[in-house]
Amino acid sequence: MIVFDLRCARSHVFEAWFGSSDAYEDQRARGLLSCPVCGDAGIAKAVMAPNVAPKGNSRAVAKPDETPTPAAIKAAMKALAEAQARVLEKSEWVGTAFPERARAMHAGDLPAGPIHGQTTLAEAKSLIEEGVPVAPLPLPVLPPDVVN
Ligand SMILES: [Zn+2]
Repeated sequence: MIVFDLRCARSHVFEAWFGSSDAYEDQRARGLLSCPVCGDAGIAKAVMAPNVAPKGNSRAVAKPDETPTPAAIKAAMKALAEAQARVLEKSEWVGTAFPERARAMHAGDLPAGPIHGQTTLAEAKSLIEEGVPVAPLPLPVLPPDVVN
């Protein structure tokens, strides 16, 4: 048996027991998990605070109604945008050719390299199903010809 700290979309944190890590993934994938407080089915593993209290089993858990200040959100968005810009500096914009290019690189028909571009959600899903490593960017990117 394994215990996980889970969290719903409304930030209620609760413990749940599973036969294995796979059992948790399976139940979550089938939508069988729901929050005991509000019934929300948007369940994910709670992120554990790195500093655990030295004694007892009291754990630091984010308070549900603690909202970040506008300044904190602004700072976080700025850091995210800067991190994304650094990644994209080395990445080639391929626009709507993204799915074909990603597939060709995955198949070895093209030399692999960092690319980014546009695709539909359905196309991204099928790429992932084919085992092509793709990930959504945290922030929307404008095509280079639109920026200027
Ligand atoms: Zn809840």
